[in-house]
Amino acid sequence: MTQTVSPAAAALLAFAAAVAAPAGTPADPIVDSKMTDVEAFDGLDPACPKDLRDRQTVVAVTYWGFDGKLHRGQLVADKELEQDVLAVFEVARAEKFPIRSVVPVSHPRFRKNGKWDDDLSMAANNTSAFNYRAVTGGTTLSKHALGRAIDVNPLINPYVKGKLTLPPGATYDPAARGALTADHPVTKAFLARGWVWGGNWTSLKDYQHFEKPVK
Ligand SMILES: [Zn+2]
Repeated sequence: MTQTVSPAAAALLAFAAAVAAPAGTPADPIVDSKMTDVEAFDGLDPACPKDLRDRQTVVAVTYWGFDGKLHRGQLVADKELEQDVLAVFEVARAEKFPIRSVVPVSHPRFRKNGKWDDDLSMAANNTSAFNYRAVTGGTTLSKHALGRAIDVNPLINPYVKGKLTLPPGATYDPAARGALTADHPVTKAFLARGWVWGGNWTSLKDYQHFEKPVK
């Protein structure tokens, strides 16, 4: 029996194919973030000095998600560090290290009362860098305020100080997928480029955190 497809049905099928979900392949990655520069800095704390803002650039990065598919996101960081970031993400891809998402903290879903909110970004397990804010639990400026620090998979790599764990409810299991350890290739790739890992600190552990000191 031969089935014929009506023109209307054919049009519908063509439309469905056109809007089909991305494949998550190198040719067709899933887009987690595709902001314009204006969007990436929208809502930035007005206290951020202009020269600091002007040092920041939006870096497009590609990574494997926990779904086994290739994703495309964006990281805002000091432009001096762009090549380091790209090189480390290359290692992460080669290692099939899964990353949940890489979306600037300016995204509406990470806003609280209009302001960029690191707690919301961490709770979403989102990887991010630039954020004009103080250090966790303090008043001095964080290296994130300079665009010189990156937090990777925060829900899997929490900040631990005494009994305080952030994001709340997170636990650090070095064997978990997406967890960072001292000898992990991603950690080593950062360290080889002069970055410091918060998991090596002794007063507290910030397993998600990498920063590059100013020389
Ligand atoms: Zn951090």
